[in-house]
Amino acid sequence: MAYELEKQTAIAAVTAAATLCEQVRQTRTAAIEKQDRSPVTIADFAAQAVVCRAIAAAFPQDAIVGEENADLLRQPQLRAELAQVVETVQAIVPSADPEAVLGWIDRGKGQVGGRYWTLDPIDGTKGFLRGDQYAIALALIEAGEIKLGVMACPALPLDLTDPNSAIGTLFVAVRGEGAVQMPLHGGEARPIRVASADRLIESVELDRGNPDLQRQVAKRVGLTAPPLPMDSLAKYGVVARGQAALYLRLSWTTAPDYRENIWDHAVGAIVVEEAGGRVSDMYGKALDFSAGAKLLNNRGIIASNGALHDAVLSVLRDQAVIS
Ligand code: AMP
Ligand code: MG
Repeated sequence: MAYELEKQTAIAAVTAAATLCEQVRQTRTAAIEKQDRSPVTIADFAAQAVVCRAIAAAFPQDAIVGEENADLLRQPQLRAELAQVVETVQAIVPSADPEAVLGWIDRGKGQVGGRYWTLDPIDGTKGFLRGDQYAIALALIEAGEIKLGVMACPALPLDLTDPNSAIGTLFVAVRGEGAVQMPLHGGEARPIRVASADRLIESVELDRGNPDLQRQVAKRVGLTAPPLPMDSLAKYGVVARGQAALYLRLSWTTAPDYRENIWDHAVGAIVVEEAGGRVSDMYGKALDFSAGAKLLNNRGIIASNGALHDAVLSVLRDQAVIS
């Protein structure tokens, strides 16, 4: 089995971070505004601290490219928030103190290189705040190829079609070894496969894509069920396990300057690919994880069950959305 130590380290770290996020969500979920005006919470910082600490301890040479950094938390006016982050981390690491926590968070300031991890401590912060879906997302990349992905979706039922299903799903994929899902809080790992479901999945936040175009394309390739809105990387998990056939994120057509972040896609891409699906940009180009923290060489995202992929590309070409 390849990447066994990496896999076990990542599963333990992501599971601990997910537990912490669920605890914070039940007690305090006030948002702090970042410089780019997007929200961040105590849980984002605490989760990044816990995951970076674990990866840095097991693989001290590895860079980590995380979504967050501690610049904001170091400001004197956020002293109370820092204390809350430290207290939250202490539930997992009892000896944590402010300096250590700030250092662990900043371990995520690493650069993209030959071998690096990318981390989104809470993907879908808006979903997290709304009480909907979110994900803790971690992937390992070597020579531009995603080798391992571990993603916790604490609010995602194991089976969307079963009202009695356990809530909380962990997705794990290793390159060449397939993808599995398991109950987040312990239980058997089961292989997942894409399928010919009849629906599209897309963001809840309608400005993160082009819903009109996405739905038009989905109809043209035969997806007749109403699209399923869902926050975060959980969308990739739902495609990977066959409960949606297609995830489109055609942001580039409405926000030409927007470039996707590597941590918003890496783990999702390997989970879908290892479940038998296909992921590319809207031109059919492979996602390039070697260009920096953004997917500078890609425009838009298509994640499919594989069978639909060429048809989607051809509809986009027909509609002269792409040349
Ligand atoms: P979702 O959960 O699908 O709404 O996506 C959440 C992610 O969207 C966040 O992690 C942001 O990094 C990213 N995001 C923010 N603005 C945009 C945008 N204009 N287009 C695409 N993605 C965005
Ligand atoms: Mg994100």
